[in-house]
Amino acid sequence: MAIVYTIASGKGGTGKTTTTLNLGTSLALLGKKTIVLDADIGMANLGLLLGLEKSKITLHEVLAGTAKINEAIYEGPGGLKVVPSGLSLKGFQNSKPDKLREVMTAIIEGMDFVLIDAPAGISKDGVIPLAVADKVILVVNPELASMADALKTKALTEMLGRTVEGVILNRAELEKTEINRNKVAELLGAKVLEMIPEDANVRRSAAFKTPIVIRAPNSPAAVAYRRLAASIAGEKFQENSKKEEKESFVDRLARTVFGGK
Ligand code: ADP
Ligand code: MG
Repeated sequence: MAIVYTIASGKGGTGKTTTTLNLGTSLALLGKKTIVLDADIGMANLGLLLGLEKSKITLHEVLAGTAKINEAIYEGPGGLKVVPSGLSLKGFQNSKPDKLREVMTAIIEGMDFVLIDAPAGISKDGVIPLAVADKVILVVNPELASMADALKTKALTEMLGRTVEGVILNRAELEKTEINRNKVAELLGAKVLEMIPEDANVRRSAAFKTPIVIRAPNSPAAVAYRRLAASIAGEKFQENSKKEEKESFVDRLARTVFGGK
């Protein structure tokens, strides 16, 4: 049975969507059957990062009861399955967040991992993704507002009878690694699962609508995401050698020239 991870934060813009996409893609590349679901139904971004924004059927239609979940599952990179949300305000208004519970029952079938990209804040559409999680991962930035809001989300998660598996410290300054790591762990009372450095490749990859773990697998942020995925999958992490880096560039080139996955 699948393990359901909800990627949450508290504060917006900390890197939940980036994390969901790159952790999901890395798990898929490790051969794990993985599906990512954009439960940030008000500010849907996951599909945008993959060029799926024109999809007619999304989680909105499923939560509004006008489509079946199978119709909203798209093929992502590396065999990743993706359920995007729609961009329209009307679609958001028609969605019933409660229906996510039903959707989860259908989606976990045959999967190893389900990753839910949760909205920021603690409104109803934010509570349900926490409530359906087996494990919650908090994405924080090394700043006080982000920690304070994450602490609220952690309290809410625990009120719902769920557990916070740990914290991802995103956009971390690596030279201050230990101070940050210890401080965050102490402030939030949770383990720091991984530190993702500030990396310009994150934005570049977004512009190319390709996860950074595929476009720039040896960039600092991608290495951190791949290491986290290996740890979650219970596998030993192997950083690509320089040779592999070159090959993956050639693969990438081939993909651009000849198309395909
Ligand atoms: P959220 O889903 O929590 O709102 P996003 O994943 O959309 O956050 O990230 C917010 C912005 O920060 C995006 O523009 C993204 O490209 C950028 N970003 C996220 N993580 C990093 C990073 N490690 N380095 C550089 N930019 C990042
Ligand atoms: Mg987001």
